[in-house]
Amino acid sequence: MIRTQSEALFSEALQYIPGGVNSPVRAFRAVGGKPFFVNKAKGCRVWDVDGNEYIDYVGTWGPAILGHAHPKIIAAVKAAADHGTSFGIPNPAEVTMAKLICSLVPSVQKVRMTNSGTEACMSAIRLARGFTKHDKIIKFDGCYHGHVDSLLVKAGSGALTFGNPDSAGVPADFAKLTIVLPYNDTESVKAAFAANKKQIAGIIVEPVPGNAGLYLPKPGYLEFLRESTKADGALLIFDEVMTGFRLAPGGAQERFGIRPDLSTFGKIIGGGLPVGAFGGRADIMDYLAPLGPVYQAGTLSGNPLAMAAGIAALEELGSRACESADHPRSHERGYDAYGRLEHLGALLEAGMKDAAKSAGIPMTFNHCGSMFCGYFTSEPVWNLADAMKADCERFKKFFHAMLDAGVYFAPSQFEAGFLSTAHSEADIAKTVRVAAKAMKQL
Ligand SMILES: *Cc1c(COP(=O)(O)O)cnc(C)c1O
Repeated sequence: MIRTQSEALFSEALQYIPGGVNSPVRAFRAVGGKPFFVNKAKGCRVWDVDGNEYIDYVGTWGPAILGHAHPKIIAAVKAAADHGTSFGIPNPAEVTMAKLICSLVPSVQKVRMTNSGTEACMSAIRLARGFTKHDKIIKFDGCYHGHVDSLLVKAGSGALTFGNPDSAGVPADFAKLTIVLPYNDTESVKAAFAANKKQIAGIIVEPVPGNAGLYLPKPGYLEFLRESTKADGALLIFDEVMTGFRLAPGGAQERFGIRPDLSTFGKIIGGGLPVGAFGGRADIMDYLAPLGPVYQAGTLSGNPLAMAAGIAALEELGSRACESADHPRSHERGYDAYGRLEHLGALLEAGMKDAAKSAGIPMTFNHCGSMFCGYFTSEPVWNLADAMKADCERFKKFFHAMLDAGVYFAPSQFEAGFLSTAHSEADIAKTVRVAAKAMKQL
C-alpha cells in the first residue's frame, strides 16, 4: 500500500508537534512504522490522504458507535452551528442532554458535563474526596481514567503501551494517595480496606476494562466492589467513558445490574465532538459548586455543538428503527442498535477464533457486546498480568498485515476494538478472511 502523502505529512508534523501526534497511541510506536493521515471517514470506513480505504475497528477510540459521519449527527451539528458555537450561558440543549443521560443510566440522578473523559474522572475523584472527607483512592492496574495526575499510576492505554505506566511530572506525594490493585482479585481489595479503614474516598474502576485490551469482570466481582465500598463508607465510581451507552443503553451498570454511586462518561455522548460527563446520586452531586463546597467548572462545558451531536447520537441509538444494509427492516423484529452490535460482535468472535485455530496460532479472544480484543496467548485473560503474556511481536506483524489489506485495528495489543452499527456482515466476513490469511503467515 502506498502512503507517500501520509509519510510527508508525518515528517512535517514531527517538526511542530511532539512525536507528530496530539495523543501518543496514534504514533504507532507499539507496532512500529508510521501513522497514516486521514481526511475522510464515513460509516465503518476511513480513507487516508493517499486515497487508501480501510475498514475501521477503532471508531475514533469509541465514540463512533453509529459509524463515522452519521447523517443525523452531521445535520444536528450544522443546525446548531448556525445559531452559535458557544454561549457560556445556559442553553436548552444542556437540559435535554442531562435528562437523556438520567433517563438512560439507572444510577444517575444528576449529571454535569465536561469537555473530556479525563476531566470527568478528575472531577468525580475530587467530588468523592469532598463528599467522604477521605483522601485515598483505589484503582486497578491496567485501567485508564484519563491523564489525571493521581490516576496515572499503573494506567492502561498509551501509558501501558510505552512501558512506563507512571508518568514523569506526577509528584510521588500525589501517587501516594492512589492504591493500585490487580483487577478481578477480591482478596487484595479486602486487604486494602482493612489496612486503610475510613481513609478511602472511593474505588474507581472500568467495569469492563478496555484500556489493556479487553477483559471481563468475573461473576460476582462487580457486586463485591459494590458491597465492599458500601461497607466502608467509600464510593463506587464506574468509569464508563468507554462502556457507557455502548454495552447497553445504560452502559455496563445496566448490563451487569450494579448501581455505582458515581459514573463518568465521554466518547459516545459527544457524537464525535469533545465531551465528558459525570453523574450519580443527587445527594453527592449536590456537593458541587455552586450548591456545595467542591469546585468544578468549564468554559466550554455543555457547549451547544457537543450537546447537539451527543443528543443526536443518543436518540439514534435509542430509536428501534436502526436499519442497515444487512437487515433493512430489522426494527420490525425488535432488532435494535444494541441487538445488532451483539450480533456483529458474536460473528467477529466466531470468525477470529476459527481463523486462529486453522492457522494454529494461540489466541484468546475476549468480547463483550461491541468491544473486543484478540490476545496472542493461549491463556485466559482476566487482568493486566494475564494480558502482558500476549506475544506483542506477533501482534505487530498481524497489525501491519491487516492494515496493508485494508483493515485497521488499534495499533497496540493493549487496546480494545470497537464495532459500530455501520459495520455489515460483509465487512466482518472480509475482516475474518483477511485475518485468516494474515495469521497463516505469522
Ligand atoms: C478514553 C477514556 C478516558 C479519557 O477520556 P478522554 O476524553 O480521552 O480524556 C477515561 N476513561 C476511560 C475508561 C477511557 O476509555
